[in-house]
Amino acid sequence: MANTHLYKPNLVIVVSGPSGSGKSTVIDALCKADATLRLSVSATTRKPRPSEVDGVDYHFLSKSEFESHLQQDSFLEWAEYGGNFYGTLKSEITAAREAGKDAILEIEVKGALQIQAQDLSPARSLLIFIIPSSFTILEERLRRRKTESEMELKRRLAIAKSEVLEIAHYDFWVSNPQNAVQDAVHQIQTIIAAERSRIDTKLIETITPLLGIDGAD
Ligand code: 5GP
Repeated sequence: MANTHLYKPNLVIVVSGPSGSGKSTVIDALCKADATLRLSVSATTRKPRPSEVDGVDYHFLSKSEFESHLQQDSFLEWAEYGGNFYGTLKSEITAAREAGKDAILEIEVKGALQIQAQDLSPARSLLIFIIPSSFTILEERLRRRKTESEMELKRRLAIAKSEVLEIAHYDFWVSNPQNAVQDAVHQIQTIIAAERSRIDTKLIETITPLLGIDGAD
């Protein structure tokens, strides 16, 4: 990939999208294809689905465990969604930095906006929103996976509508029509590549000594 010899990983890449937008599938494929990304494992008080593994899909916590992390200020962001709590542990971002990778977070809108509002320096945020091609497809996807009760499904659809209205706060959007996972992955890779080439003070600090320039006038 271009610019990798100068680039120092410092991105907190946030990917949001309504439940049923297919974002988990896209992010899984993206992380498999790109070893320069480290997926943040969120904490949640939601009960695990049959296929989910603690420490891999989520850190599954009791409500009191979640609250004790809150008291210790361990979260970079957190939010309530559909009656459960979800949060990104600061340690997940540190782990990415220590591994020399950009962190990628799959989180809902309220948490994404909390991250955007923070000074993460030396890191910076990049917010990407995945939009489904229609609400009909969204509903079909949710029904097909059979992980939610009818009430929970209706609640997720209502949240989906309010989330899409927040897209104006994001930096980029990506479309994810049905059966086009690789296309969505490619769109995200293109966005990340452009963001890594952004000129910022950190890059200037890296480049000037390499060119034998001290930066003073
Ligand atoms: P699910 O229950 O389907 O796994 O997740 C429900 C919603 O919570 C999804 O939109 C997902 O992206 C979001 N989510 C997962 N982890 C986090 C997190 O750490 N923080 C926030 N704010 N949202 C999260």
